[in-house]
Amino acid sequence: SPKNRSIAGLLGKRLPTDAGKLLHDLGTVGDELGLAVYAIGGFVRDLLLGVANLDIDVTVEGDGIFFAEQFAARHGCRVRSHRTFSTAVVIFPDGAKIDVASTRLEYYESPGVLPTVERSSLRHDLYRRDFTINTLAVCLNGPSFGRLTDYFGGQQDLQERLVRVLHNLSFVEDPTRVFRAIRFEQRLGFHIAPHTENLIRSAVRMNVLNRVGGLRLLNELIQILREKEPVGAIVRMAGFGLLPFVHPSLKLLPEIRRVVEETGRVLAWFRLLYLPDACEQWQVYFLALGDRLTNDEFHDACRRLAVPGRISTKVFSHRRQALGTLDAIQRRLRRNPEVRNSEIYDWFHGLPLEMLLYLAARANREEVRRFVSQYVSRLRQVRCSLDGDGLAALGLAPSPRFRTIMDRLLVARLDGEVVNDEQERALALLLIASDGGAGVAKTHH
Ligand code: ATP
Repeated sequence: SPKNRSIAGLLGKRLPTDAGKLLHDLGTVGDELGLAVYAIGGFVRDLLLGVANLDIDVTVEGDGIFFAEQFAARHGCRVRSHRTFSTAVVIFPDGAKIDVASTRLEYYESPGVLPTVERSSLRHDLYRRDFTINTLAVCLNGPSFGRLTDYFGGQQDLQERLVRVLHNLSFVEDPTRVFRAIRFEQRLGFHIAPHTENLIRSAVRMNVLNRVGGLRLLNELIQILREKEPVGAIVRMAGFGLLPFVHPSLKLLPEIRRVVEETGRVLAWFRLLYLPDACEQWQVYFLALGDRLTNDEFHDACRRLAVPGRISTKVFSHRRQALGTLDAIQRRLRRNPEVRNSEIYDWFHGLPLEMLLYLAARANREEVRRFVSQYVSRLRQVRCSLDGDGLAALGLAPSPRFRTIMDRLLVARLDGEVVNDEQERALALLLIASDGGAGVAKTHH
C-alpha cells in the first residue's frame, strides 16, 4: 500500500555510500539476532524532505541494548547503555554515534501486584512522539529493507507541510512540545495544523507552561535561538503568548523586534569575519529579547529559567556594564565625535563577544556599530611585543610601574603612536627613564 511504500531507492540515492552501507549493516545484525530494526524520527523526516541529516536514530523491536552490544562487537564500536531507559549509544572508532532505543517498556501497576514489564510494539512507541512528521519508521532488515511504516499519516503531513500532534492531550502531556512545534514549523517552513494551533492556544490559556521546570524551558528556548533564522520563531512565540512564561514583562514590542532583527544582521556580519572565536548565537538573541527588561527583571528572568547562579551573576553584571558603556559612548560622542582606538578598546575589552554583538544590534547609532566592528575584527587582537620580562631586561626594577607602562605601551600601539617593535622599545626606554611613566608619555605625542 502507498502507506507502507518502500523508500529503498531514496536511501540509495540521497545518502552518502557509507551511510547507506551502515543502514544495511544495522539490518544485517538485526536479521542475525532475529530482531526488527528501524531507522526512525528526524532522520526519516529529513530524508523524505531531501534535507541533509545523518543523525541516525534506531529503534529495535525487543532488546535494544543487546542489539547495540552485538552490533558493536561485530563492527569494532563501543557502547554506552542506559538500562533504565533501555537505550544505548553505539560509538564508532571515528567518534560517530548512533542512538539505539528499544520499543519502550511499559509499567503496569495494580494494587498489590508487582509492576509487570511489557515490551510495547513499534506503533505504541511511535504514538508517544511529538508530531506525525516524526513518526515515520524505515525497516532496515534485509528482506524488507527500506519499507516505510506510517501509522499516523506522517507522509501526508510532510506533503501538506503540516506540524500536527497525534492526540488532543499532547501538549498537556508534555508542554515543551509547544516550543518544538514552533521550532519545526519555522525551520522546515511548515504550518502548525489548525487544530494543533488551537490545542497550543488552550494549553497556553490553561497555563500548562508553568508546569515546565525552568531548566527545560531554558533548553527549549536555547534550541529555538540556535536555529539558523530564529526571528520567525520568536514572532510566533510572541503570537502564542509564550514570552510571559519566560518573564511576565517580556513582550515583543516594535523596538524589541527591531533589536532582534538587527541581531540577525550583526550575527551574519560576524560570521563573515570567519574568526576562530565561538560565539553563542542564542545568548545574543536572548539579550536582544530581554532588551527592555530592567536589571532586576533580567536577573529574575535568569532565575526563572534556572540559569546557574554563577553564570547569571556574570551575565547580569556584564549586561549592566555593557548598557552603562553604551550610555557613556553616547555622551562621549556628543562631546566630540573623534574617538581614539584606545578609547574603543577601553570601552569593550572587559565584555564577552556576545555582549558586544548585542550592543551593536541595540545601538541606534551607526558609529557604535562601527566601534564594535573595529574592536571585534581588529583592536582586541592588538598586543605589545614587550612583556614583563622584556621591561625587566630594559632595566625596570620590580614595581607597580610595570602595569602602568604596559598599559601605556598598549595605548601607543592601539593609537598608532608606535607602529613597530623598535618604536615600542624606544618608548618603553623613555618611560622607564622618566619618573611618572605615564606623565612623560603624554608629552610624547
Ligand atoms: P533535530 O534536528 O532538532 O535534532 P529531531 O527530530 O532529531 O530534530 P530530537 O529533538 O533530536 O529531534 O528528537 C528525536 C526524536 O524524538 C524526534 O523525532 C521526536 O519524535 C522525539 N521527541 C523528542 N522530543 C520529544 C518530546 N518532547 N515529545 C515527544 N517526542 C519527542
